[in-house]
Amino acid sequence: MTVPFLDVNAGYNELKFEIDDAVQTVMSRGNYILGDEVLRFESKWAKFCNADHCVAVGNGYDALYLALLAAGVGHGDEVIVPSNTFIATWMAVRSVGATIVPVEPDPISHLIDASKVAPAITSSTRAIIPVHLYGHPVDLFPIMDLVAGRSIVVIEDAAQAHGAYYRGGLIGKHGDMVAWSFYPGKNLGAFGDAGGVTTNSADYALKIARHRNYGFEAKNSSRLFGVNSRMDELQAATLSVKLEVLERWNARRAEIASIYLATIEAGRDGVHLKTSPRRSSRLGFGITAWPSVAHWAEPAWHLFVVQTDDRPAMAKFLKNQGVEFGVHYPIPPHRQRAFSSFERKALPIADVLANRVISLPIGPHLSAAQTEKVNDVLSQIPVIG
Ligand SMILES: *Cc1c(COP(=O)(O)O)cnc(C)c1O
Repeated sequence: MTVPFLDVNAGYNELKFEIDDAVQTVMSRGNYILGDEVLRFESKWAKFCNADHCVAVGNGYDALYLALLAAGVGHGDEVIVPSNTFIATWMAVRSVGATIVPVEPDPISHLIDASKVAPAITSSTRAIIPVHLYGHPVDLFPIMDLVAGRSIVVIEDAAQAHGAYYRGGLIGKHGDMVAWSFYPGKNLGAFGDAGGVTTNSADYALKIARHRNYGFEAKNSSRLFGVNSRMDELQAATLSVKLEVLERWNARRAEIASIYLATIEAGRDGVHLKTSPRRSSRLGFGITAWPSVAHWAEPAWHLFVVQTDDRPAMAKFLKNQGVEFGVHYPIPPHRQRAFSSFERKALPIADVLANRVISLPIGPHLSAAQTEKVNDVLSQIPVIG
């Protein structure tokens, strides 16, 4: 038995009846873009997040791009982003012509925090994009305190954090705008590309709603620049179906995370090692760090990421044992050819994380047997943290 890293098709199979029904309804209605289903999903998602507005867009990248555009961020402006994030965060900043200012994450949480952000703020800073990486929320309030009274917007990249709680409140309304991706592999995933922005600002919501559709204010009338980043009815209708199970699926993710964490903690104390901790010399690698949950956080557990001192060895071991894995992400943005101007920039934490991280299966459809299998394989790996 090979345990898949993520089985998105299992999500469809679980909800096949409701999803097929929603698709049939849209198909026979004959309205395919920005119609009633999009309106319905927008209001449902805003309500779920306790945000005043949601504007559905084409994908997560566009959500970031359109949020920056709505905030008026452009040439000459600086935008603070984490050095360790999915490339979309950086590319969205580049796409509005602003200057990317990377800050290093905390090496334990892998997240940026106010102490790292503060020294990077200059008179040109116009936006900060905290990324709730792996589904664990960034400590937002201290960052929002930093920007209070300044013309700096906080745009959260929540592409991995659907249903995560920050200090008792769902992610989706803390920053000025919150960018979502509904890419199929996300916690709330569509059957194609989709994204959205939630905000408590009617002004930003209106701007994004116009920008996403050629700047139209009325039919064929564009006062402002715009793009085409519309959500289609099929995605909206199926997202509404899947939203009903998001909390249950996230609870399953959390359950799997706690199983893995207990095993890792036991390994750290040497409890599960069948031999001595020297066992690491036999396998040749170990787990050196694992997720820690802040007392104020309830992560969405999009990913379960550990660090290892020898990723090729751990990858080989997992593969041989029949456990698929992911690497999020093997090449940090500043090492990408697309960002060659950052080549000389010293971002050692991002470099170290890129070399050491490895993600274990944690999808909501991992069966009890699959979870046990992963956990058993995990229990054979020494913990040398
Ligand atoms: C998935 C993701 C995005 C981009 O979303 P798309 O819908 O694929 O464009 C942005 N940021 C982060 C952190 C992501 O994980």
